[in-house]
Amino acid sequence: MEYPITQDAGLEARDDRLVTDSARTDRPTPDVDVVVVGAGIAGLYLAYRLSRAGHRLRVFEAGDDLGGTWYWNRYPGARVDVPSIDYMYSFDPNWQRDWQWSEKYATQPEILRYLNHIADKHDLRRHITFSTRVRQAGWDDGASLWRVRTDGGDDVSARFVVMATGCLSMPKQAEVDGLESFTGEVYFTSRWPHDPVDFTGKRVAVIGTGSSGVQSIPVIAEEAREVVVFQRTPTFSIPARNGQVSPERLALFAANEADYRSAARMSPGGIPMERSITPTFSVSEAERQQRYERAWGIGELFEAINVYADVLSNPAANHEFAEFFRNKIRAIVDDPQTASDLCPTDYPVATKRPCLDTNYYATYNLPHVRLVNVRKHPIRQITETGIDTAHEAFTFDAIVFATGFDAVTGAITAVDITGRDDAALKDKWADGPQTYLGLTTAGFPNLFLITGPGSPSVLSNMAVSIEQHVDWVLDCLGHLRAHGFAAIEPTAMAEAGWTQHVNDCADITLFPAANSWYMGANVPGKPRVFLPYPAGVDFYRATCDEVVARDYLGFKLSGPEGSMCNDGLVRRLQPDVEMILIQMAAMNLPTLDSMPVDEARAFYAQMSTTRPPGPDVGEIVDGVLPGATGDLAYRLYRPPTPGPHPIVVFFHGGGWVVGDAVSDDPLCRDLCVRSDAIVISADYRHAPEHRFPAAVDDAMAAVRWVADNAEALGGMPGRLAVCGWSAGGNLAAVVSRLTRDAGGPHIVGQVLLTPPTDGDLTRASYVENADGYGLTTALAQWCYDHYIDPADRRDPRFAPLCAGDLSGLPPAIVVTAEFDPLRDEGKAYAAALDAAGVPVEHVRARGHTHQSLTMVDVALSGAPVRARIANALRGFFLPTRTPETAA
Ligand SMILES: Cc1cc2nc3c(=O)[nH]c(=O)nc-3n(C[C@H](O)[C@H](O)[C@H](O)COP(=O)(O)OP(=O)(O)OC[C@H]3O[C@@H](n4cnc5c(N)ncnc54)[C@H](O)[C@@H]3O)c2cc1C
Repeated sequence: MEYPITQDAGLEARDDRLVTDSARTDRPTPDVDVVVVGAGIAGLYLAYRLSRAGHRLRVFEAGDDLGGTWYWNRYPGARVDVPSIDYMYSFDPNWQRDWQWSEKYATQPEILRYLNHIADKHDLRRHITFSTRVRQAGWDDGASLWRVRTDGGDDVSARFVVMATGCLSMPKQAEVDGLESFTGEVYFTSRWPHDPVDFTGKRVAVIGTGSSGVQSIPVIAEEAREVVVFQRTPTFSIPARNGQVSPERLALFAANEADYRSAARMSPGGIPMERSITPTFSVSEAERQQRYERAWGIGELFEAINVYADVLSNPAANHEFAEFFRNKIRAIVDDPQTASDLCPTDYPVATKRPCLDTNYYATYNLPHVRLVNVRKHPIRQITETGIDTAHEAFTFDAIVFATGFDAVTGAITAVDITGRDDAALKDKWADGPQTYLGLTTAGFPNLFLITGPGSPSVLSNMAVSIEQHVDWVLDCLGHLRAHGFAAIEPTAMAEAGWTQHVNDCADITLFPAANSWYMGANVPGKPRVFLPYPAGVDFYRATCDEVVARDYLGFKLSGPEGSMCNDGLVRRLQPDVEMILIQMAAMNLPTLDSMPVDEARAFYAQMSTTRPPGPDVGEIVDGVLPGATGDLAYRLYRPPTPGPHPIVVFFHGGGWVVGDAVSDDPLCRDLCVRSDAIVISADYRHAPEHRFPAAVDDAMAAVRWVADNAEALGGMPGRLAVCGWSAGGNLAAVVSRLTRDAGGPHIVGQVLLTPPTDGDLTRASYVENADGYGLTTALAQWCYDHYIDPADRRDPRFAPLCAGDLSGLPPAIVVTAEFDPLRDEGKAYAAALDAAGVPVEHVRARGHTHQSLTMVDVALSGAPVRARIANALRGFFLPTRTPETAA
């Protein structure tokens, strides 16, 4: 049989296709094609799609009936926290004929009725075996199938297993001693009885103030004689402002349902909404407060989180928004101490899922409701009659545990899953889950995880995310079937790349700053790893689609007669850098090399006006210094700390053609603050009016002048480093060598940020990164041609890499960016310095481009690289490196 091979491998892809596998022709036929574990929203949709696609299937559900979350969580006040109209299936387009939502936010009973209605309407129950827990699933490599065992004695073989076990379905164990001794009633919000619970006249303890606590406390307080809430971590919550689904919205929706659903699929959170691109501090305080009030007034979670683009990335922006919430809490709650205890202060707002509530904070104004802050008054134990804290003994008739879940991974690892070579999934994930796309995991062929770790899951409207995953799986099964493959499994490379990408996405947000269940922090011993995918439903869906379009990039597909693998990484750029490139591409801007030089300079200057300013420094002084043939502008950035300070002479980027002393302003501010050094950005004459070596002569003049005037400038004589980006990096390298040869001024260190070092356009990086990453090979060539004659390009004043002797040069930090045409010459220069015995730190900025490291407060992933540069500078300036001690 021939497999249709059509797709090119990715840049770093390894092509490993059509490996004949003749040993596997007599495979047993499995009992079913697919075993689905779980009959919640995901399991039901799987049953619908699989049965209609002709797959033989069995669904096992531990509960006595369907509904998953909405079957188990029957606590008083349980509701959805995204509008009902968004939290529903989209595969049932005629739904309005036989269903209506009665409220903006439906209650648990209504959602459960809806799911039963869908199951009945599409005849899904017949596929489900209830009251049956899957205990074990083992991959039989010889037979190429799964063997699934349940606690009901079923032993079923299946080609595929789909874990639809839910992100929030494995309740967390209660972490208090003495529960068994309590003689009153005990309830868990996640396992609430089916018969109504009557709290009338009772003294009730509620432990936990996450979403379930916030929803249930006001309702319990309506009945109970006394309610004491034991809170460890306070929650940010906004009023739901529940009510009828607005008729206008319904009408709009009915007219445009397909558009509406498609907008939801391409939105950041799974609800139609434009992603905010406005940074918080780009608008006035009055405007910000109005915007916050509007978010508070609308009562929609995703709207609230989306107020400004940087709420989840900029600590100052987040702090201001959090303070708005805290002020609301203080305004609602009468007792100042209770209000203070209810105000979250030790994690950024929205880094734990905020809640939607009805009268939550106001409930604490009721005379029979009391809050106990267990951080101050820890629970010692549960007793026969109630709860003892370190300071007080409470008596209760009932205790309600609203203590959450072993989220995202708990229900998956609770099943004994073994893959290839009997490897246990639990062991593989001991240090945190590793998946490809949150859908699959290497070593476990034909295993799919619906809303698994590494997918948007709990950060999104899960109805949308579930449908997307199920659709992807069904398309995949269809593809395998159509092309004669029996198994699919991600490669180790693809999985490692995705795990890295998820971490990269999380690292540019404030999420890791919270001890949240998103981080696994609520379960003792659980590895601290960010579990969901935070870049959004829209980017995520595009990635999954791209993987398919690139011939299942990163997967190995195999069958009785062969296999194919298009290995590679689907996301290699840093996530923020990728977003910037996408936005830039959408703007369709002209390229510098397509313009006359004057226009290019004006355009470059214009582009600089739209960026964030960078951090505040102590002082900025603009002046002129004597260049080689006349005055040159400089800008001095002084740190806010008391001086004198060491000095960095900085040379700007711009290909020797564009830019000036202020064109790298945010970068210079950032370097100044991080390194606690004066940064003097010195201009130099530009090409083509002043070709090589005019810029070099000016750079030398600037360094000499700064060295001679260090004290007058507020600097420390002898503590002088040079730094430059791009063409400026080239000048910094050249100056370092010329000053060595001239016997001074003494330079203690050189910072070379993505520098050209010989302009050799035949290097691989010029070919690989020729286009699409900001600086193009064509633009680099335009710059070289303006600056220097081809005949001069081996002159070490242009090509420091061609200088014969690099020994004795100042210690260096050389930064190269992965997606930069100049990458390989920076790399070669770092190696040459090292070979010459120069102390050199080579930083390879993974996923970055030529410009992205300079984009202060825009490409946040560049900050750690700039921190390393600042560290290196601080090292250069240590007294042991000054001329006196060096001598
Ligand atoms: C109280 C609460 C409120 C929520 N509100 C929202 C909301 O407003 N918006 C939102 O987007 N999301 C919300 N969620 C998240 C919610 O879990 C998802 O929206 C969605 O219901 C998940 O559906 P699912 O089918 O993936 O998983 P679940 O609904 O959790 O269903 C999984 C099923 O798998 C079964 N199962 C697990 N392991 C096994 C096994 N080994 N063998 C057999 N069966 C097994 C479980 O019994 C369960 O029935 C909420 C969650 C909770 C707990």
